[in-house]
Amino acid sequence: MRKVKIPFNKPYVGPGEVMGVLRAALGGSLAGNGKYTRLCQQYFETKFGFRKTLLTTSCTDALEMSALLAGISPGDEVIMPSYTFVSTANAFVLRGAKVVFADTLPHLPLLDPADVEKRITPRTRAIVVVHYCGMACPMDEFIDLARSRQLLLIEDAAHAYDSYYKGKPLGSLGHLATFSFHETKNIISGEGGLLVINDPELMSKAEIIWEKGTNRAAFQRGETDKYTWVEAGSSFLPSDIIAAFLYAQLKKADFIQRKRKQIWYSYYQYLKPLHEQGLINLPQVPSYATVNGNFFYFTLKDAAKRDGLLRALQAKGIHAVFHYLPLHQSPFYLKHNPAVTLPNTERFATSIVRLPFFVGLKEKEIQWICHTVTQLLSE
Ligand SMILES: *Cc1c(COP(=O)(O)O)cnc(C)c1O
Repeated sequence: MRKVKIPFNKPYVGPGEVMGVLRAALGGSLAGNGKYTRLCQQYFETKFGFRKTLLTTSCTDALEMSALLAGISPGDEVIMPSYTFVSTANAFVLRGAKVVFADTLPHLPLLDPADVEKRITPRTRAIVVVHYCGMACPMDEFIDLARSRQLLLIEDAAHAYDSYYKGKPLGSLGHLATFSFHETKNIISGEGGLLVINDPELMSKAEIIWEKGTNRAAFQRGETDKYTWVEAGSSFLPSDIIAAFLYAQLKKADFIQRKRKQIWYSYYQYLKPLHEQGLINLPQVPSYATVNGNFFYFTLKDAAKRDGLLRALQAKGIHAVFHYLPLHQSPFYLKHNPAVTLPNTERFATSIVRLPFFVGLKEKEIQWICHTVTQLLSE
């Protein structure tokens, strides 16, 4: 195979992150919930107005904490999209939940509130929405649904750093929300995540679950004179070395976001003629939502066209990819559940193309990628 000229992702790391790691490593406090962890949490609480945040070792961990906080027990049902990363579902399966997959909207890979509503039963405990590509789900509908049916609303905001719904930050709208700092996301620490707790009733329990089931966080704040085992918990907190890396990234977040949004709009402009000719479908971002430069995707007519384009791009040294084998078609799901059909989800999964996307991507490279896509699709 030819050597890739433009990779799909290239993590953006500067000397600031390395210095942060050194400072934390030599600073005498390497365990979790240290100085840098608190600085990161304060950043999110101040910048986005989140009520309480806890840094975790991944978004997967933040989702697992959500399942614990939701008090999910065997037989409970949790409704979520099938068109998402494995962790969204896996976190609840670990607690014995039955995951119920709902379809996406026809024109956007976002969970469809009407389809969710149809799947609510007396055993339903929670709805998990995924703000795909940083685009907000129709949250008014989900908030109403959660309120009227007394369900917990959880936002998987792994893609959704610095994105908004009607001006409100994503991550502030559910009872709980989870972010990812995996190297493919906007802000990174290699592996890393954040749990946002907007429901005051879950705040102290969240802190306990985070710290191995103990009240150590309260002890550190001097609210109790000893710390002890008070709940079932685990260890979800990252080392302060990771937090120091993340904090250095957060200090550059405005720059990173400016670059990533620029890249997104450049792709959009250069590919618009193809959209107008009906050769591709560009994402139609809802007027209530924002673009946060998480990644860039478009869809083609069918799987054959999509697979052909990916192969042809690869041959030219452009690493474009697709993603999300729908979870309702996964071997694990099918082993435990009868087959279901989700037409919109299946159509997105077979027709989507994601183009290279990273801070260091140059305008000239974007032009070349779009020129190549245009040539290949006009043949
Ligand atoms: C990346 C991702 C996750 C998992 O994040 P990690 O930090 O890698 O655990 C969960 N949900 C979605 C939608 C994701 O894209």
